[in-house]
Amino acid sequence: MIILSGGTGTPKLLNGLRTLIPPKDLTIVVNTAEDVWVSGNLITPDIDTILYLLSGRLDTEKWWGVAGDTFRTHETMKSSGFDEGMMLGDLDRATHIMRSDILRNGGTLTSAIRKLCGAFGIKTDILPMSDDPVSTIITTPQGKMHYQDFWVKNHGEPDVADVSVDGISDAAIAPAVLEALETDGEVLIGPSNPITSIGPILELPGMREILKHKKVVAVSPIIGKKPVSGPAGKLMDARGLEVSSVGVAMCYQDIVDVFVIDERDTADISDFDDIGCEVVRADTLMKSVDVSVELSKQILDIFEEM
Ligand code: GDP
Repeated sequence: MIILSGGTGTPKLLNGLRTLIPPKDLTIVVNTAEDVWVSGNLITPDIDTILYLLSGRLDTEKWWGVAGDTFRTHETMKSSGFDEGMMLGDLDRATHIMRSDILRNGGTLTSAIRKLCGAFGIKTDILPMSDDPVSTIITTPQGKMHYQDFWVKNHGEPDVADVSVDGISDAAIAPAVLEALETDGEVLIGPSNPITSIGPILELPGMREILKHKKVVAVSPIIGKKPVSGPAGKLMDARGLEVSSVGVAMCYQDIVDVFVIDERDTADISDFDDIGCEVVRADTLMKSVDVSVELSKQILDIFEEM
């Protein structure tokens, strides 16, 4: 199974899926449009969350960073008048240095992440969606800013007029992702932000066309009229989409076969009539690993019945 992922909702689901599927039978294709260079190193926030989750080191209180990390380098820089704008932990920074060193020596992002997977004892293939740099840019009344400046530095507060992905039309799907898509017919779109996490993966030239020929199951990150966390509502609004599971399904209209919405969701099944997908209800609010495991079982059943 191939899973399209961002850095929070889908990793929560992976926490369940990995108890049911052997590591080598999973391929995780991860958004890179939130990547950014900070203090000389490339940060890949969504990939890092998955690296730490699958190596058993993720801080699952925050769903980013290494559990128990210290921030001595960051604090030392800050007290010396150098605010790098993002809280980077000391152990976390080691990952960024190793990855960036491989890139500085001419390696691709895919090769860097595979090397880190090897070093961290991870057997699942974690693949950047592309080896080419792309960036999500948010247009606000204060001007255009990188997604990380919008979300981390400005706490998601500015009004959003538009969201775009710089470099996406010239970016290629990573060769390893294409290879995985040639051999695997099942694709799961996790409950991640449809605009900034799944959106860039689907915007890669040729990706939607490939997915039209796959069995695609998607899980809604929106329950009722609100995302479980993060700025998805504001960003969907800026794109003129209804903030609801129906709005999310519309983002996947041409590719999704079965759409999983939460059992608490107030949407009616008939609201999805125009989208042309089957709709299944489940408990998708992953407050514990047990809920993730149950949801994962239901998703495996859905694929089996397709
Ligand atoms: P990001 O890269 O950190 O923005 O993370 P993602 O895009 O992977 O995840 C953010 C999305 O996950 C948000 O839109 C949330 O609504 C959704 N999300 C987080 N936790 C859950 C959950 O337990 N259930 C569901 N259905 N969605 C969730």
